[in-house]
Amino acid sequence: MALARRKPTRAVRVGTAQIGGGAPIAVQSMAATKTQDIPATTRQVQLIHAAGADVIRIACDSKKDVEALGEIRARLKDSIAPNLSVDLQENYRLSEIVAPHVDKIRYNPGHLWHHEREKSIRDKVAYIAEIASKHDIALRVGVNCGSVDPEKTAKFGDDDVGAMVESALEHAQILDDLGFTRFVVSLKDSDWRKVVEGNRRFSAQRPDVPLHLGVTEAGMPPDGIIKTRIAFEQLISEGIGDTIRVSLTLPFEDKGQEVTVGRELIADIEAGRFRSVPANFGEGLNIISCPSCSRVENEAFIELAQDMKEMTKYAQAYQVTIAIMGCRVNGPGETDDADIGLWCGPLGVNLKHGEEIVGHFPYDRVLDEARVLLDRVIEERGLATARS
Ligand code: SF4
Repeated sequence: MALARRKPTRAVRVGTAQIGGGAPIAVQSMAATKTQDIPATTRQVQLIHAAGADVIRIACDSKKDVEALGEIRARLKDSIAPNLSVDLQENYRLSEIVAPHVDKIRYNPGHLWHHEREKSIRDKVAYIAEIASKHDIALRVGVNCGSVDPEKTAKFGDDDVGAMVESALEHAQILDDLGFTRFVVSLKDSDWRKVVEGNRRFSAQRPDVPLHLGVTEAGMPPDGIIKTRIAFEQLISEGIGDTIRVSLTLPFEDKGQEVTVGRELIADIEAGRFRSVPANFGEGLNIISCPSCSRVENEAFIELAQDMKEMTKYAQAYQVTIAIMGCRVNGPGETDDADIGLWCGPLGVNLKHGEEIVGHFPYDRVLDEARVLLDRVIEERGLATARS
């Protein structure tokens, strides 16, 4: 299969890395440790950098997180000097104090919508763009299909990919109008089909904007890698994609795997080594789990995700989706569409059946409760096995 020529996107500089403009596809990853745990996060950045990441993202939700990020940057300045990106979700006003410590700011248009409702979206974007210009850094408009602003969700109804694409186009246009062109866009979802469709649609309308590809909450290896591979094979072979992140649920010490797997996927695709995916891949039990980040409420989350995978093996042939999320920021919303949802709190786990809360259980009990619920879901729906 011949590769299409890479789309000629704008070049966006992120520290010493270049995204787009014909540069090799940049590989990114994200620290999963608590940002305020400075030694652990510093080690996490070193580990991801050693694996070959071009840009490393760290989440910041508070002034204390920002102070910690400043300290981490200072500690690494004279050694590995990584290109750092910050993930801002809840409070865009942190841009001002975090900008001096990073090379790129990622904001989520859906979360921006919810904050300071009396202010227009354009004013909020203008505020972030002005700060980015002043500090000579880049931006990423990071749209997630699961957290698009409610106005677009209402307008597009079932076409959630349409809502995601419109949100990305709208923000790209606002930034253009403001004269700020040093930005990349991402359109992500845990369903690789939506990632492929969303990026294709956006790229058709804005071929000039560099795209950051990723399947969010892809889960644990090997399934998480397979879902990501399918999306990347489709998009990169069409010339779409300037930077990537492979989101995997992994123990902290293995986080460098996101980068090594990413490089392997790019090398395979560029060399024409496509893996044939069985026609029934994606049928049967589907476990979605977030890659975890500094917001994870309890580190027991990673073990919980692994134990769930083990425990649910008996139900592999059933068409059931289970979502396991690490925190309250994305947990409640991102589990709504799953048959069974688990999102973690500091001391316990919220168990859901669709949008309905079943209960809040301690970490050492939730697995049993989830098993009971899984049996009930299989029985209630009279599910036939996917492969029978
Ligand atoms: S669900 Fe929460 S912990 Fe998991 S990656 Fe998203 S923000 Fe981080």
